[in-house]
Amino acid sequence: MQAPSVGGVMLPRGNGETIRLSRGASLTDFAEKINANPASLVAVMMNLGEMVTATQSVSDETLQLLADEMNYTVQVVSPEEEDRELLESFDLEFGEDEGDEGDLVVRPPVVTVMGHVDHGKTRLLDAIRKTNVIAGEAGGITQHIGAYQVTTEVNEEDRKITFIDTPGHEAFTAMRARGAKSTDIAILVVAANDGVMPQTVEALNHAKAADVPIVVAVNKIDVEGADPTKVRGQLTEYGLVAEEYGGDTMFVDISAKQGLHIDSLLEAVILTADASLDLRANPTQDAQGISIESRLDRGRGAVATVLVQRGTLRVGDTMVVGDAYGRVRAMLDDNGNNVAEAGPSTPVQVLGLTNVPGAGDNFIVVDEDRTARQIAEKRAARERNAAFAKRTRRVSLEDLDKVLKAGEVQQLNLIIKGDASGSVEALESSLLQLDVGEEVDIRVLHRGVGAVTESDIDLAMGSDAIVIGFNVRAAGRAAQMAEREGVDVRYYSVIYQAIEEIEAALKGMLKPEYEEVELGTAEIREVFRSSKLGNIAGVLIRSGEVRRNTKARLIRDGKVIAENLNIEGLRRFKDDVTEIREGFEGGINLGNFNDIKVDDVIATYEMREKPRV
Ligand code: GDP
Repeated sequence: MQAPSVGGVMLPRGNGETIRLSRGASLTDFAEKINANPASLVAVMMNLGEMVTATQSVSDETLQLLADEMNYTVQVVSPEEEDRELLESFDLEFGEDEGDEGDLVVRPPVVTVMGHVDHGKTRLLDAIRKTNVIAGEAGGITQHIGAYQVTTEVNEEDRKITFIDTPGHEAFTAMRARGAKSTDIAILVVAANDGVMPQTVEALNHAKAADVPIVVAVNKIDVEGADPTKVRGQLTEYGLVAEEYGGDTMFVDISAKQGLHIDSLLEAVILTADASLDLRANPTQDAQGISIESRLDRGRGAVATVLVQRGTLRVGDTMVVGDAYGRVRAMLDDNGNNVAEAGPSTPVQVLGLTNVPGAGDNFIVVDEDRTARQIAEKRAARERNAAFAKRTRRVSLEDLDKVLKAGEVQQLNLIIKGDASGSVEALESSLLQLDVGEEVDIRVLHRGVGAVTESDIDLAMGSDAIVIGFNVRAAGRAAQMAEREGVDVRYYSVIYQAIEEIEAALKGMLKPEYEEVELGTAEIREVFRSSKLGNIAGVLIRSGEVRRNTKARLIRDGKVIAENLNIEGLRRFKDDVTEIREGFEGGINLGNFNDIKVDDVIATYEMREKPRV
């Protein structure tokens, strides 16, 4: 066989050597490995019938095709493997305790509460927390940070347990899907009046797949018709046999509502941990762990709750969490108190990160700021590449059905932005579970916390993705850009609604009725307090025009703070007016709504009937 030649130039043909490329690599990356000119590889691909540019990320198949043609063996390296290598290149390793047996000390179990909807997961998490409010403790006000720790007495010894307090297996699965092992023990909540339900089975399957021991909380025993024995019988079919029947699963009958037997449940968790797990960690090394939940806070910047898995995290440490990094400026525990350090199995809220990490991202403390930054930047670049590698054609939800029928897309690309990493992960995993037949795949190219940005729109344009904003809006010029480029951006505040619409679109049943048209935006420059009218916003109209008696929403830091407001009063100087145009100043009164601040944006809109396509 002849070596491929382009324009008479011989290409460096291989002898079957293996080259390693990361997922989403470009022809330029390939060329670098074999000392070739990228342009010549573009030409080779063209001969093979594929048009790709030199710097564009390409799919695994394209890399494979090119390698075959050039007589190389290509090994596409997975993101996990790559990350391991990245850390290795800085002499770091995630996931193993340093030192030997003697360095390990017992750590508290980390528990996730799972079970069927309405069986009482949330109520139980509340009840557990309440039994543990230490009387008279300073602060005393509990804070939701995504996890909390309680103390319980077992065999006259105080033992701690850490609870992840986002109930449900969505969070659990989302984290596990990303390779993060966050949970040691699962509490499976089953309502005694309802018995085993579909999500009960789903939850227990998830726990089993993750090799996590289960403690069963038979809840709602206060309700008439409660039948805890029946629950035990039902679960036997799924391999969970109660201890009293000779099995090895602990069942505890509780009432989350009345706070009954919560102590016994906590004891069962400790006993199960002692019997089947060896939970120890080295508290003296640099801290490592995972992020559980994070968000962007107006005053404090990125706020991330992390769970320390080994080592001790201290204020002043430099950490890298996924593609975020920074020096720990302050740490808060689940009571909102400042803490200076956090050991294994302790959840803490960390301030000082550059941006918001995803749920399930691992964190690692490093010696130098520079190392943290480099690791974070490499990860961010890899994410971007991987996302771009999945490009296809541009679509909107309305015409999805048509392009599907025409065979133009096999895949619906989504970009999900939301107000908290938990909700983003939950939405993502629910969408990925949609069963939409064989013709089409749903793919999430990018997800993140915060407003929909221009770079999201960029990515959507490049890959024909639909952007979903969950409790967030487009920031800055992103909205205009989306409009101009025809990128479909959808806003939701209820997960179910998002899922229903996407599902309907995939089935070709989406009925567009009304669409929202933005009329204008006003930036609040000053807040005037009037005893008669409440708070009045002194504004500058940033775009379009603001009209009286139109609908409005209030946006703070790209997040929707309030919906369905009304522009009740509109003034220029002392006069009531019906509209104010871009570039002018004026006063807006939002009726009874008074929670306004300087720098908030009031966006007005109206609903227009949308022509059917
Ligand atoms: P989740 O969907 O599993 O998080 O369920 P929730 O914790 O939201 O509980 C669902 C409903 O059951 C709520 O109305 C709770 O007040 C109620 N509930 C939870 N635990 C108990 C219980 O032990 N007894 C009774 N009677 N009601 C309960």
